[in-house]
Amino acid sequence: MSTNQIIVCGTGIVGLAAALGLARQQEKVLLLGPRKPPEPAQADVYFPRVYALSSESKQFLERLGVWDLLDFSRVTPVESMQVYGDASGYVDLRAWQAVQPEMAWIIESSEIERVLHQGVKMFGVSWHDDRFQSLTAHSVKTESGRQLEAALVIGADGADSPVRAAAGISGTSKPYGQMGVVTHLTAERPHGHAAVQWFTSDSVLALLPMPDTADGPQVSMVWSMSNDRAQALLALPQAERQARLELDLLAATEGALGRLTVRSGVFAFPLFLERSSMVAPGVALAGDAAHRVHPLAGQGLNLGLGDVAQLLGILKARPQWCSPGQISLLRRYRRVRAEPVMAMSLVTDGLFRLFASHSAPMVVVRNLGMRLVDRMPFIKRQLIVGASGERSRERGRDLK
Ligand SMILES: Cc1cc2nc3c(=O)[nH]c(=O)nc-3n(C[C@H](O)[C@H](O)[C@H](O)COP(=O)(O)OP(=O)(O)OC[C@H]3O[C@@H](n4cnc5c(N)ncnc54)[C@H](O)[C@@H]3O)c2cc1C
Repeated sequence: MSTNQIIVCGTGIVGLAAALGLARQQEKVLLLGPRKPPEPAQADVYFPRVYALSSESKQFLERLGVWDLLDFSRVTPVESMQVYGDASGYVDLRAWQAVQPEMAWIIESSEIERVLHQGVKMFGVSWHDDRFQSLTAHSVKTESGRQLEAALVIGADGADSPVRAAAGISGTSKPYGQMGVVTHLTAERPHGHAAVQWFTSDSVLALLPMPDTADGPQVSMVWSMSNDRAQALLALPQAERQARLELDLLAATEGALGRLTVRSGVFAFPLFLERSSMVAPGVALAGDAAHRVHPLAGQGLNLGLGDVAQLLGILKARPQWCSPGQISLLRRYRRVRAEPVMAMSLVTDGLFRLFASHSAPMVVVRNLGMRLVDRMPFIKRQLIVGASGERSRERGRDLK
C-alpha cells in the first residue's frame, strides 16, 4: 500500500473536528459525507439541537482554532447546576465551589458546525460530497461508485455507522425505551445561568440556560421520557401538544422558572446505551459510531470529541515511517478510550437505573443520598470537576 491518506467518513461535529485536527497536523486527509453548510443564524431564532460542552471540549476546540470563531452572543456559560430528586433530594453545584468560573457552555449544534466548516475550508481539506458504501483492503467505495485509497478510515458516521458494519466491529446496544424530547422555551423568570434537572421515577427533565430573546429569558429543554409518552405527545396537533407540554412542565418544575412557553418545534430522539470495540485493521470509530450514552449527563458529544483528541495525539506521536492505520496505534487508541467511555456509560446508566426503580426503600435511599452529597463540599467539588470534564487535569494536579 502506497498511500498515507486518512479518510474521515461522516460530516457531523465529530467528523469535522477529526478532519480539521488531521489537516492541522499535516496529515493527508479526505472528508467523505454530505456537505450541508448550516443555515445562517437569525436573531432570536435558535437551532433546536443544543449541546452542553465541557471545559475539555472547549479546550479542544481552542486547539483546533475554532472556539474564537463562535458567535458568543449565542453561547451561554453554565455557572451552576441544581438537581432535584423525586422526593426531597436536592444537590446544588456551583462552579465557584471548585474555583472555576463556568461548568459548561450551552451552544447550538449548528453554531459548532458553522465554525468547523470554516476551519476545514481554511485548511483546504478535500471534501467528497458523497456517502461511504463499502470497505475493501486499503480503500473505500462510495455510493456514487468512486474508489478512494485509505491507510486509515475514521468512522464518524453516527449511531447507525455504515463503517462500523462494513468493518465488522462488534458492539452492544440497549434501548432505554425512552426518547429525548427537545424544544426551546420562554421562561417567566431569569435562569441565572443555571442548568436545572429534575429526576423522577419515569423521566429526567433538564432545562439548560440559553440567550435571552425579545420574548424574555430562554431555556432549552431535554426531557427524557418513555417512548409511549413521547409518541403520544408528538402525535397531538401542534396547539394541543404545546398546551400539554406547558402544563406538564409547570407541574414538573413546580413553577421554578414561572410559566414556560414553547417557542420552537418539538423533536424527539430515541435513547440507547451502546458500546463497541472501536477498531479493526485500518479502521477507527469515533463519536456516536463508537458509543452512545443516555443524555442525562449531556456528555455524548463531549465523549466523541474526547475520542478525536486522543486519536489525534496518538497519530501525531507515531514515528514518521509508521502508517496511520497500523493496528498497534489503533489498539492504543482503543485502550486509552476504554476508561472514559466505560466510566461515562456506568455513571449515566447507573443514574438512570437508580431513578427508574419504584421500590420504596430505593426512593428513600436516592433522595437521602442527594441530600448528603449536598452537605459534602469535597464530593461536590469532585462532581463539579467531573461535570466540566476536568477529571484528568484535576488528577494531574493532585499528583503534583
Ligand atoms: C436528546 C439528546 C441530547 C443530547 N445532549 C447532549 C449534550 O448536551 N452534550 C453532549 O455532549 N452530547 C449530547 N448528546 C449526544 C450528541 O447528540 C451526540 O453524541 C453527537 O451528536 C454525536 O455526533 P457525531 O458527529 O458522532 O454523529 P452525528 O451527529 O450523527 O453525525 C454523523 C454524520 O455521519 C454522516 N453519515 C451517515 N451515514 C454516512 C455515510 N454512509 N457516509 C458518509 N457520511 C455518513 C451523517 O450525515 C452525519 O453528518 C445528546 C443526545 C440526545 C439524543
